[in-house]
Amino acid sequence: QSTYKPKDHLYKILVIGDLGTGKTSIIKRYVHRFFTQHYRATIGVDFALKVLNWDENTLIRLQLWDIAGQERYGNMTRVYYKEAVGAFIVFDVTRKNTFDSVINWKTDLDSKVQLPDGSPIPCVLLANKCDQLRESLTSNKALDDYCRENGFTAWFETSAKDNINIDEAAKSLVETILEQD
Ligand code: GDP
Ligand code: MG
Repeated sequence: QSTYKPKDHLYKILVIGDLGTGKTSIIKRYVHRFFTQHYRATIGVDFALKVLNWDENTLIRLQLWDIAGQERYGNMTRVYYKEAVGAFIVFDVTRKNTFDSVINWKTDLDSKVQLPDGSPIPCVLLANKCDQLRESLTSNKALDDYCRENGFTAWFETSAKDNINIDEAAKSLVETILEQD
């Protein structure tokens, strides 16, 4: 007789960063396998659900929270962050000011949500629109140092347009969440 008991996790994941960095495009690509230049800006909060058959015993449902049009305020309400267990902070590799904002998003995140033991929630940095770069950032040591110093668990160059590294980044975030769960 089987005593097989699958584990089922629901994880709330935040996707934050400046306006126009590609947050909505990344979510659409990841969840719906789809990219379009012609997006519609909605105001409010959007959700998307991604189901991962992680292994034979584990089902993971990622609830991705997209801030729509609220980036302009530079920070979010505590309600939005409540019970999140992971986050992506996105910047646009073609606009340096969106990288300068990353630290503000991280500070805001850490001040508003923590794990039950008080530690920061796992956060992965996404250098998006890498299809626009002449040279890959992959061996960029400055970004490694930046992430270590500022408490990011990892960083990836991504492209929602060309579907680069988005699955990998999500996998990395989930692995860190599972380790801490
Ligand atoms: P959000 O405001 O952060 O949600 O950004 P959007 O997802 O709405 O994207 C802003 C603009 O950047 C749109 O015109 C997208 O088509 C474009 N965009 C998003 N991701 C990429 C990418 O990986 N590469 C390129 N070249 N453009 C992108
Ligand atoms: Mg958006």
